[in-house]
Amino acid sequence: MLTIKLPQIFRVHQVPRIFWEDGIISGYRHPKSSALDCILSSFQMTNETVNIWTHFLPTWYFVWRFLVLSSSLDFCRDAYNWPFLVYMLLVCLYPFTSSCAHTFSTMSTHARHICYFFDYGALSLYSLGCAFTYGAYAMPDRWVNSTLHHYFVPMAAFNSFICTSLSCYSRFPELECPRLSKVLRTTAFVYPFVYDNIPLFYRLLFCVGDGCTWNDATAGYFYHLFFALLTGFLFASHLPERLAPGRFDYIGHSHQLFHICAVVGTHFQLEAVLSDVRSRQAWLSTQAPAPAFSATFGTVSLALLGNLLIIGGFTVALLRWPGGSSILQSTHLRHRQPGPAGEPAHHRGFHCGPATLAGWLLHPAEHRARGGPSQGAVMPTHPPPETAVTCPRRSPLSPHR
Ligand SMILES: [Zn+2]
Repeated sequence: MLTIKLPQIFRVHQVPRIFWEDGIISGYRHPKSSALDCILSSFQMTNETVNIWTHFLPTWYFVWRFLVLSSSLDFCRDAYNWPFLVYMLLVCLYPFTSSCAHTFSTMSTHARHICYFFDYGALSLYSLGCAFTYGAYAMPDRWVNSTLHHYFVPMAAFNSFICTSLSCYSRFPELECPRLSKVLRTTAFVYPFVYDNIPLFYRLLFCVGDGCTWNDATAGYFYHLFFALLTGFLFASHLPERLAPGRFDYIGHSHQLFHICAVVGTHFQLEAVLSDVRSRQAWLSTQAPAPAFSATFGTVSLALLGNLLIIGGFTVALLRWPGGSSILQSTHLRHRQPGPAGEPAHHRGFHCGPATLAGWLLHPAEHRARGGPSQGAVMPTHPPPETAVTCPRRSPLSPHR
């Protein structure tokens, strides 16, 4: 009789540094899990399980909303609905990609980075979807047909390239310069958020008198902005696990709350946009031309292609570089002694700067020749001999005894 044996779980010091999460001490999966182990691990309690499900289940909620709306909105022939169609597709895409990234991120060090490259790309495209829908339905009355209105979506498509590039790039200095990495990644997502929401900020906060649209959508946009701010705060603060390392390893840590707030915020955004789609159709149809097929689907196709190329470029940079796995994994582990909270001690004597980082990424051989960090300079020693465990690769299907 065969029984399914769930994958083994590890503590923070038993896995390579790159897999460590701030304030999370236990619940780590094997750093070289098989794809089947990754899928099975989503059915046992690890520190990623709730991350996986908090985006997997909402994916199907948004798919269900999309299918229900398809029966009342004509997405095929009515050009007015095309920006909303693009938005709905991207709303379904980002939680699904995130869920997959969290599921398969422990297949290897490289797989972890590539999974999150795709996660960032999907988030960038979701930002573009927001711009599509705000540009088409949420623009303040007095901004319709303005210069900003005309260039709003093309600029957002360009922003998606910046966002994906910056966020993928932020993974390279993650170990050596964690603060720089965090700043780059936060900037990569805050910048398009602020840009996309310019029409909403104006409409909700600054617009007074005639030409200001106060309708049923307004409250939904306020809720959306509130949850978006909460999402950003959780992402940047790593609370509550930073205050009590180990207490929230499985349930309640910031990334889970971040996922939940993002999804709840998206729900309010969807309902608010839908309200604008319906209530402003008659007025908008007389003020602005209907969205063109080429402008709508051409822009989103180019953005999709461009983002895939960027992800491909970063993946090639990661794979072609012999020292890449060492830099991205645990280059300076010998010098880093984990603190009581699982945090590394402050790194000593390493220069963190954009020039150095650019050198790593673009000219690794040249950088190594100049004495930059390399695999040969400091060999990774993780897991440390005294704490290392043997992580056997085993079949999840084993004979029942
Ligand atoms: Zn996530």
